[in-house]
Amino acid sequence: MTPTDTAAITARERLRDVLDDRMAVHRAALETLVRIPSVSAAGFDPVEVRRSAEAVRDLLESRGLRNARVLEVAADGPGDVAHPAVYADWLDAGPDAPTVLLYAHHDVQPPGADEGWSSPPFTPTERDGRLYGRGAADDKAGVIVHVAAVDAWLEAQGRLPVNVKVIIEGEEEIGSAHLGALLDGYADLLRADVIVITDSANWKIGTPSLTYLLRGLADCDVEVRGLDHSLHSGMYGGPVPDPLTGMVKLLAGLTDDTGAVAVPGLADDVRSVTEAERARLDALGFDEAAFRAEAGLLDGVVLGGDQEVHPLERLWMRPNLTIIGLDAPAVATSSNTLVASARARVSLRLAPGQDPVRARDLLCGHLESAAPWGLHVQVTPGAAVGAFVADPRGPAFEAALRALGDAYGQPAVLMGVGGSIPFIEPFAQAFAGPDGSPAPALLTGVEDPDTRAHGTDESLHLGDWRNACLAEAYLLAELADSL
Ligand SMILES: [Zn+2]
Repeated sequence: MTPTDTAAITARERLRDVLDDRMAVHRAALETLVRIPSVSAAGFDPVEVRRSAEAVRDLLESRGLRNARVLEVAADGPGDVAHPAVYADWLDAGPDAPTVLLYAHHDVQPPGADEGWSSPPFTPTERDGRLYGRGAADDKAGVIVHVAAVDAWLEAQGRLPVNVKVIIEGEEEIGSAHLGALLDGYADLLRADVIVITDSANWKIGTPSLTYLLRGLADCDVEVRGLDHSLHSGMYGGPVPDPLTGMVKLLAGLTDDTGAVAVPGLADDVRSVTEAERARLDALGFDEAAFRAEAGLLDGVVLGGDQEVHPLERLWMRPNLTIIGLDAPAVATSSNTLVASARARVSLRLAPGQDPVRARDLLCGHLESAAPWGLHVQVTPGAAVGAFVADPRGPAFEAALRALGDAYGQPAVLMGVGGSIPFIEPFAQAFAGPDGSPAPALLTGVEDPDTRAHGTDESLHLGDWRNACLAEAYLLAELADSL
């Protein structure tokens, strides 16, 4: 072992020791953020998202980052709400050191039904080594991973090995509704050589993972109207059609008998899986029983989609459609009534390479034309975001695999995730190198198969969270050495 190796090992040990000393402080900061109900969805108070942005700004500033500020994002017009992001940086590593952009988001999904939670969603609560709460994992733990990595370096060394910019978005959970404005307004401010996104998952607890594939997203709202007021179902039902039944028929036609998307033409631009991708899927060793258990699938419920296709391919590389909202009378307060109208929100996950605007247009067009009985249909298009696919090779990816493996003490695996993070693709493209190739986007995360992100009883595995913080501290050194 050369003296330089010994010095590097000692520096790493020091980084690890400082981090471990500081985890209680980071834990307290995480709990403070979780207590702010920063739900970005329409219908929730936007003041909370702003309060969350300000809390994140203060946190970044208090941990040694500079130029911390709330970034206002331009709204689309009067009545439109754009939730603020947060920025901070530390740029004293010198012009020869790479610049790394650290991304996470501070907004959260709505909590869902209170009964689904074993403890209140915005009261962080520890049980069996996990911290429960909305945003405890997705993605406030990701915010703190960045904070903890920077903090470990500044406490241990008084400096960072790379230039760092931090962007904490406030609208990720609503499909980054004003991403164009964020890109137009701040691409120069955020410019970097590599992006580290801490908003994904690990394959298993204790198995660090780098996500190289995410599905895209398209959605819309659909309203079906048949009457100008509701009617007694006995006095009118029969000749007068039921708009809610019409809605159910319309929605049922969006998938085939296996549950695969049946919107005409929608799957036409799904590309086939490459050999390298197939090899990566096979290397993960999919365990159907474990998958069913994680999902909480009841006995006898069959997995959806084309049974001939690998389940992970169906999960990561095929489109899928979900009805995520339905406005109809509640059973408890229902009466014998034909309702005048019904409303639904339909969400598509898109395969790598699918054109999101095309997919959204096909979905909207189909809904407009396929309602039975001449019912009136009004469709409001929503998000349209392409999938993210990285070629996980080259120095930045190798640096990330090494850092993850060293921090967790287990080799890192390459995986896909069926969800979407709209930020990545446009910013990786905007920071393309001189040869036109996108900036490497390293997608790590703190979720695991038991996290239930977006669901009730969302939780964070505290052991993996500590390892994720350490991995990012190591990653900054690996990137400094290899870029
Ligand atoms: Zn997230």
